[in-house]
Amino acid sequence: MRSHLLNDTTAELYRSSVTEGVERVAAQLATTTRPFTGVTPDALAPAIDAVDLDAPLHDTIAVLDELQDVYLRDAVYFHHPRYLAHLNCPVVIPAVLGEAILSAVNSSLDTWDQSAGGTLIERKLVDWTAARIGLGPTADGVFTSGGSQSNLQALLMARQEAKTDSLDRLRVFASEAAHFSVQKSASLLGLPPQAVVPIPVDRTKRMQTLALAAEMERCRKDGLVPMAVVATAGTTDFGSIDPLPEIAALCDRYGTWMHVDAAYGCGLLVSPKHRDRLDGIERADSVTVDYHKSFFQPVSSSAVLVRDRATLRHATYHAEYLNPRRTVAERIPNQVDKSLQTTRRFDALKLWMTLRVMGADGIGSLFDEVCDLARRGWELLAADPRFDVVVEPQLSTLVYRYVPAAVTDPAEIDRANLYARKALFASGDAVVAGTKVGDRQYLKFTLLNPETTLDDLTAVLDLIAGHAEQYLGDTLDRAS
Ligand SMILES: *Cc1c(COP(=O)(O)O)cnc(C)c1O
Repeated sequence: MRSHLLNDTTAELYRSSVTEGVERVAAQLATTTRPFTGVTPDALAPAIDAVDLDAPLHDTIAVLDELQDVYLRDAVYFHHPRYLAHLNCPVVIPAVLGEAILSAVNSSLDTWDQSAGGTLIERKLVDWTAARIGLGPTADGVFTSGGSQSNLQALLMARQEAKTDSLDRLRVFASEAAHFSVQKSASLLGLPPQAVVPIPVDRTKRMQTLALAAEMERCRKDGLVPMAVVATAGTTDFGSIDPLPEIAALCDRYGTWMHVDAAYGCGLLVSPKHRDRLDGIERADSVTVDYHKSFFQPVSSSAVLVRDRATLRHATYHAEYLNPRRTVAERIPNQVDKSLQTTRRFDALKLWMTLRVMGADGIGSLFDEVCDLARRGWELLAADPRFDVVVEPQLSTLVYRYVPAAVTDPAEIDRANLYARKALFASGDAVVAGTKVGDRQYLKFTLLNPETTLDDLTAVLDLIAGHAEQYLGDTLDRAS
């Protein structure tokens, strides 16, 4: 069994095993004609149930053959141009290479004595990101597992910086379109259920700053403490970007922590064409970025950045075995002092490889391409009488629904759209998402693949219309 340990004596097995795995994935990518096979949980479960984990095959090739049946064949493939559903990007090869290296070396970024250079590379990428945001000379941050964790850590710092000991009096303002992790974080941080005050959005799904001003004023008058405003730079559903300069001004006025959730919109930080859409982000106290959404990085790759590095002390705890107090005096760079995690992956290496091979403009141009595609897709939808499209995209999502001329019952239209999404998923021809606008059921394209063309969008819309018509035809048949 020792022959499976990766070390100086097993280089050949390492090389051949990993190469064989890479070959399987490459072959799968080369022959995948649809983003999904349409397999159901019931159809797939028996193959996985049948595997006896206590009866190993002792043979890598046999295990890869088995993996074909239990995973590779039926996985959902984000690289396919007709995968249009969630905030999953196709990944760039330099990052995948970084992934292979980081898991083989297996550095852990909690302490210098478990990573050495990895620590400095992560720090340099944090500084690079903070400079792109414009956070100034005292900025810092740390890589996290994702936007949810970044938001949690940002709100932890905001809570600790708030001028009260009474959790019940704290209020967090976020738009109705903000990510649910804001609510979840508030709850984890011990805030009362009413702590997160939803602020209405305008027609373009951006936070209404007049309403925010009114709520913050009311909060102050009621003797409550405005702990934080969460501005979203790229809402998950609409890609809408809250008015950052106006929100920053209100945060200044009330002495409130400004957090910008740019989990999705962070791609604009490297955009050669649209960086101005993030103007005002440089005034934030903290920022969430998900490189695994708009920097074409594999999951996970995310960071939380702060304007004032001293605020990261709220995540600092010392343990004799790991990062004793004296290491601070000795100026040993232990990233665990800034993180909610202890053992932590060297995800930063993926971004490092990407920037060194492709450069920031290379990534930003890919993101610009999908933003431009979304704009053209919007024109397509707006001109198509079969569809109702919600807002002009500020990033790369399109929210729309099929509206048959002959049907007036909105609930029936809801059902037709739900059916169309499910039928499309079951066919595997394309994958789209769904969401509600008001009470109504809508469909969503999240465009993150520069390989997706306008023709793909046209074809998928035709498929959706076909499935919806099929549903409506069937229900008519049943009624008559
Ligand atoms: C996706 C998303 C998150 C959560 O990020 P994860 O990486 O999935 O944890 C938070 N905020 C916004 C706006 C998002 O789109």
